[in-house]
Amino acid sequence: MNLKCICGGECVEDSLIILKKIKQIYPSCIYCKNLKLKKFKPLKDQIELDEVNENFGLCTCGKRHLDSVMAHILKIMMDEGVRDENSTLRNTCTPLITPSYTTNSSPYLRTNSMVILTNKITKNCANKIINEIPEVKGVLYGDIRQTVGLKDSKSEPNTYKLLAGCDMRCDVICTPYGELCIYRNQAEIHVEIPKPISPKIEIIRKVLDKYKNPTILDSTCGPGTLGITCLKAGAKKVVFNDIWYPAIKMTLQNLQVNGYNIDFFDVTKGLIGSGENFQVYCQDINKLETINEKFDICIIDTFPGVNTENFINSVKEFCTEIIVIS
Ligand SMILES: [Zn+2]
Ligand SMILES: [Zn+2]
Repeated sequence: MNLKCICGGECVEDSLIILKKIKQIYPSCIYCKNLKLKKFKPLKDQIELDEVNENFGLCTCGKRHLDSVMAHILKIMMDEGVRDENSTLRNTCTPLITPSYTTNSSPYLRTNSMVILTNKITKNCANKIINEIPEVKGVLYGDIRQTVGLKDSKSEPNTYKLLAGCDMRCDVICTPYGELCIYRNQAEIHVEIPKPISPKIEIIRKVLDKYKNPTILDSTCGPGTLGITCLKAGAKKVVFNDIWYPAIKMTLQNLQVNGYNIDFFDVTKGLIGSGENFQVYCQDINKLETINEKFDICIIDTFPGVNTENFINSVKEFCTEIIVIS
């Protein structure tokens, strides 16, 4: 199994390891401090900015409240002139926690536990954040409102820019068939905030319930969440496909993270990899008929607002039931 991160580091772990420790990662210990900072009030009116460093709000257990880390980020941004002196925590950046897990209260963070995204930052400031704030593992330049990836074969891809550190992070996804760990390098794969019950997985579950060991075509698989859910649910076979090669690389990584071994791997062909009961393709959806197989269920999960008619027409001859998600 190859779980090396694209940065060459140890950012990627097996799902069994993550799931074993996930419930203990974010809660406070009895000594942890919540400074109760207000999100909409200028930071300079609430704390002494000169006192903000890596020890600001730090507990002896090694964790800091999310707001203390955000205050540290904002302090560096103000020092570097990318935020003005009246800035608030609210307009600092989007924190993408890793591994992300739905909790009722704000998380207390440890080293390398979040990637941040903002459209107002310099490379120097990003380097300073990575060097001085232990909790931040990556800094991305981009707009959270613009989805990352490739909509269809006629579009240009959109990506965020990694300014410093590593952007690989993990979402823990709850499914009726057990929890999954889905990694994404967020510069190339869209952000999806996990919910306690995923509406997409609920749609899939209702269809899966009608079949016994169905065959599945996950035609727009992204990092593999829905197709891997189907494997966990006992699908006889799953064919993963996405036109966006970075998504396919993450699908292969996520199959391995969740315990599905890759037997065959070849980046030069349309078929990129396969294992015991799955195959992974990187094709335009129009070309999927050349696989020459029939499927019980096809999943189509496109970017919001994409016209799915072409997608449906491309697969309807060889798929019994088509689930269109967005
Ligand atoms: Zn990494
Ligand atoms: Zn503590």
